[in-house]
Amino acid sequence: MMSSFNLLDGKVALITGCNRGIGKEIARTFVLNGAIVYANARRVGSLNILIEELPIHLRPSIIPTYFDVNDTNLVRQVFVQIHKEQQHLDCLVNNAGIMKDALIGMVTKKLMLELFETNVFAVMDLMQYAVKLMSKQKSGSIINISSIAGTNGHAKQIAYSATKGAVVSITKTAAKELAEKNIRVNAIAPGIIETELLSEINSHTMENLKLNIGMGRLGTTNDVANLALFLASDLSEYITGQTIGVDGAVLM
Ligand code: NDP
Repeated sequence: MMSSFNLLDGKVALITGCNRGIGKEIARTFVLNGAIVYANARRVGSLNILIEELPIHLRPSIIPTYFDVNDTNLVRQVFVQIHKEQQHLDCLVNNAGIMKDALIGMVTKKLMLELFETNVFAVMDLMQYAVKLMSKQKSGSIINISSIAGTNGHAKQIAYSATKGAVVSITKTAAKELAEKNIRVNAIAPGIIETELLSEINSHTMENLKLNIGMGRLGTTNDVANLALFLASDLSEYITGQTIGVDGAVLM
């Protein structure tokens, strides 16, 4: 677990998809570093584990917000709530995402739309609301979770990799447009990180995947959360428009 340096003291963050995996670890790391985190999940009560795993004195630093990132009305409401309660928002982490494999020739319009709605349209939607708050305060850090599939491509993932490639271009464009407002926008491109997202991959394929990682191990959620911490903190105040890999040197 990440040790505490209070790099995010006094900062307010909204993180999507916090009930498990990478989002949960980013939320925990941010709170351990002094942030107040509006943690999002879809199922009411599903953030209890994240909260219960924290030291008691830090539990109030997680504010659960239950909504589907595709529901624009609920998304808008959470930004209204943050504005009312905190008057500022320092960081948005667009982490919620879905991955579905399909061979070329088997990709349906329905699948494309489903992937784009959550992985791309919701990301832009949340960014637009966040920017309204961040513009007023003339500061902010937006972190979008892309993927090595988006930067390098990955067989059987034409639709998923398209969504994660779109996240890279959204990040670059927004960084250029928002730099004058001192709002930074960066993306993280994880390689193969041990989470439930990989649960459908069989053990044989998983062993082959590991052989293609220079460092010989899968990534951990902590590996990703540490980069998110840096990008949310003032240590990265001159870094924007970047897509940074966390992949232990994937050789594919
Ligand atoms: P998980 O599948 O473990 O977690 C995904 C999270 O996103 C869950 O909390 C899920 O909530 C949430 N989510 C999905 N759809 C929605 C929605 N419509 N509204 C709100 N929340 C939603 O995945 P990871 O933690 O591994 O992945 C996190 C991010 O990292 C994703 O964007 C993924 O594409 C990316 N990534 C992951 C890699 C990996 O190897 N693990 C590699 C590269 C990128 P629920 O429980 O309700 O489904």
